[in-house]
Amino acid sequence: MIVVEDLHKHFGGFHAVDGASLSFDEGAITGLIGPNGAGKTTLFNVIAGVHKPTSGRVTMGGEDITGLPPHDLFHKGVLRTFQIAHEFHSMSCRENLMMVPGGQSGERLWNTWFGRRRIADEERALRAKADEVLEFLTIEHLAEQKAGQISGGQKKLLELGRTMMVDARIVFLDEVGAGVNRTLLNVIGDAILRLNEERGYTFVVIEHDMDFIARLCDPVICMAEGRVLATGTLDQIKANEQVVEAYLGT
Ligand code: ADP
Repeated sequence: MIVVEDLHKHFGGFHAVDGASLSFDEGAITGLIGPNGAGKTTLFNVIAGVHKPTSGRVTMGGEDITGLPPHDLFHKGVLRTFQIAHEFHSMSCRENLMMVPGGQSGERLWNTWFGRRRIADEERALRAKADEVLEFLTIEHLAEQKAGQISGGQKKLLELGRTMMVDARIVFLDEVGAGVNRTLLNVIGDAILRLNEERGYTFVVIEHDMDFIARLCDPVICMAEGRVLATGTLDQIKANEQVVEAYLGT
C-alpha cells in the first residue's frame, strides 16, 4: 500500500533517517520497533507530511505522495494520530471528535468550527457519528467530559477515535502504550484489531511493549540508526542476531 524507497531525513548534519526502504501492506498491522533514536518517529513524520524528506520517495498504491502536506494526505486517508492540543482540553470529548472532519491542524479546525455556520443537520450527523465512535471505543461515558480531564490512556483512545471521524485508510500510531495501564492498553488493542478487521484499516504502530506488538503486529520491522535492520514475524525478529544486538539485548 505504501512503499518507502531510500528515504533520508537530515537535521543539519544529523541523519535521523538514513536510507530507509520498507513497505506497509494493505490490511496489515505492521509493528515498527527499534532503540530510541532509531528514526522511527521521524520516518512517521516524513510519511505523514509533517517533515519534508531530504531525499527518497514515498508512494501509495503507485502514486507519488512524497512530501505532500498533512491535509492532502488526510484527504487520501493517511492519518497520524496527534496528541490533543492544549486549546482543545476545555472542550468535551464529543466536541473534540466533532471537530475532526474540517481538517487536521488545530487552527483549521478552530476556524471551521467558529468561522463557518454549520447547518443543523450536518451538526446532528456529526454528533451521531461522534457518539458512535465513543461507543465503539467503550468510552461513551466520557462524551461530556472535558478532554483535559480524562486519563492518559483515555486520551489515546480519543486520539484513535479522531481517525474514525473520517475515512481513514492507513493510520500511524506512535507509542499508544506509553504510560497507559495494562487494562486500558488491552482496550486500545481491541479497538485497533476491530478497526482492522471490521473497517479494513491498515495500521503502522511504533511501540516498545513487546506483548502489545505480539498481540497485534505482523509483520514487524526493526529499525536502527535510521535504517531497516530486519523485517519478519515477531519470532523471526527476536531470533535475528543484529536485532538482539541493537535493541532487544540491551
Ligand atoms: P525514535 O522514534 O526511533 O526514537 P526519532 O525519529 O525520534 O527516533 O529520532 C531520531 C533522531 O533524530 C534522534 O537522535 C533525534 O534527536 C533526532 N531528531 C528528531 N527530530 C529532530 C529535529 N526536529 N531536529 C533535530 N534532530 C531531531
